[in-house]
Parts: sequence; C-alpha cells; structure tokens
Amino acid sequence: MSERRASGAVRPVQVCVLGPSGRMGRAVLDAARARGDVRIASAVDQPDAPGLGALIAGEVTATADLDAGFAVCDVYIDFTAPAGTRLAAETAVRHRRAAVIGTTGLSADDSAAIARLAAVAPVVVSANFSLGVNLVLGLVKQAARALGPDWDAEVVEAHHRAKRDAPSGTALQIARAIAAGHGVDYDQVKRHARDGEIGPRPRGEIGVSSVRGGDVVGEHTAYFFGAAERIEISHRATSRAIFAVGALRAAAWVTSQPPGRYDMLDVLGLQ
Ligand code: NAD
Repeated sequence: MSERRASGAVRPVQVCVLGPSGRMGRAVLDAARARGDVRIASAVDQPDAPGLGALIAGEVTATADLDAGFAVCDVYIDFTAPAGTRLAAETAVRHRRAAVIGTTGLSADDSAAIARLAAVAPVVVSANFSLGVNLVLGLVKQAARALGPDWDAEVVEAHHRAKRDAPSGTALQIARAIAAGHGVDYDQVKRHARDGEIGPRPRGEIGVSSVRGGDVVGEHTAYFFGAAERIEISHRATSRAIFAVGALRAAAWVTSQPPGRYDMLDVLGLQ
C-alpha cells in the first residue's frame, strides 16, 4: 500500500514494469498513468526488445538491467514469458522484491523459482487479474458442488492468434475450480484434447478446449450439461485494461503483506 509521509502526502508505490514493449506491458503503463497510488519507477525488457533505451511515460528509460530496475522499485509487475518470469524471480530473491506475476504457461521449475521468491517477499500470482473472472471462479465451484459429476463439465476458451500457450491459464483455473467443487483431483479427470476413436465421455471427466484467432482478448465459458438442460457461465474480456488495472491494484496491495504467495482472491478480499 502507498505510504503516508511526514508531510501528510502519500508516497505512491514504486513499480518496475517488465516487458514494457509487450501487449500487457503497454496496458500496465497506460493504466498506471490514471492512478495516484502507483508510480512507474523502472521498466525492463529483453536486450533485443523494440523500444529499449526509449523514454517511457516521459520519465523512465527501458533497459535490459533487472538488478538496476529492481533496485529502485517496491514491487515489479511481470507479464512476459516463462523464461523471463523465472529469471526475474531468481533475480528478485536477491532484492527481496515484492512481485505481481501474470505470465501463463509456467512450468514446475518456473513455479519453484516463484516459490523461492515467495519465501522472502510477498508475491501475487494470477492467470487472470480481472474482477469478473475471479468471481466466475467462485461461481463455477459453487455450480459444480451443487450439480455434481452427473452434469458434464466442459470449459471452452478463445484467444488472439499470437497467444503462445494452450489451454489458457484462466481456463485451467476454471477447470480446477470445477474439480474442487466435485471434490476430485483435477489431474485425474482432465481431458485437454479429443481426436479419433475416443469412445463415450467418462462420467466426471472435465474437458478443456482452446480456440485461437484474430484479436480476441480472452473469452471463457464453463458448460454444465445436464439431461435436457444446460448451464453456461461465461466471461468475455474486451480490453487488456481490465488485467492491467487488476495488476496495479495487486501491486498497491502486496507491498504491505508479509512474505508468501497470494492470488487475486486475496487481493479482492474474496478468499
Ligand atoms: P507479448 O508477447 O505482447 O509481450 C511479452 C513481453 O515480454 C515483451 O515485452 C517481451 O519483450 C517480453 N519478454 C518475452 N520473453 C522475455 C524474456 N525471456 N525475458 C524478458 N522479457 C521477455 O505478450 P502479452 O500478450 O503481453 O502476454 C504476456 C504474458 O501475460 C503471457 O504469458 C500471457 O498469457 C499473460 N497474460 C496474463 C494475463 C493475466 O491477467 N494474468 C492477461 C493477459 C495476458
């Protein structure tokens, strides 16, 4: 949270933005301009990223130096790629720097690097920083608990053609919330692809399907198919600004928390 100074003025939380040349990095920079509780203190990208050395928001120059970027911030916001997220987490351990991490498609090793950071600093990790999706997570869990595995649960997600990972991290979160509602281990019931002679759908299976094309920001629907009736719980994002605003809200919140791993439900007080 931003600090109150002796003068009574509130010191904004100092933020380092990773990947400022990316779609989400740009959205975070845009959203930060509208807020008084955060200030962009530094910006760090890959050495070959477009715009490196350029002035951002009239006061910060994008560099490839993580140590320098972390030295002048309270918290960093990371929407990059798994390799970048892992390197940043390893570097941030030395600085005990708070983090807000939105990169998806992380491996077990990437998550282990984040866990090492969370042992010494507060870290918010979320595959989706929108308020709406985080409400959907609660709704699908409740629906799955009430309906049980006799209602076939499927998740369908759609994203723009440049997205690198599938299924989306949000689709996996939704599917895991359904599994939690059924009281089962997701890895035992998941089905991420269907092709060929697959046979009848097993009771309790949770399917996830991905659609890719155009400039779709992000769409997710959880289906519950009953006998002669169907429930659909959908979320459609039409602007990346919602994720950026959520990530900045998380950044303003996380700096006053003790070390540990948090998610967006903690930030929103919905846990
Ligand atoms: P993008 O390709 O437009 O931008 C990626 C940025 O990261 C670029 O600036 C690039 O130079 C930088 N980068 C890439 N690899 C790097 C590395 N190894 N080291 C340092 N920097 C590196 O991607 P995007 O659409 O902005 O998405 C970025 C990530 O955020 C993806 O994983 C995406 O799925 C995720 N995302 C999460 C949410 C959420 O709410 N959690 C929302 C949207 C996107």
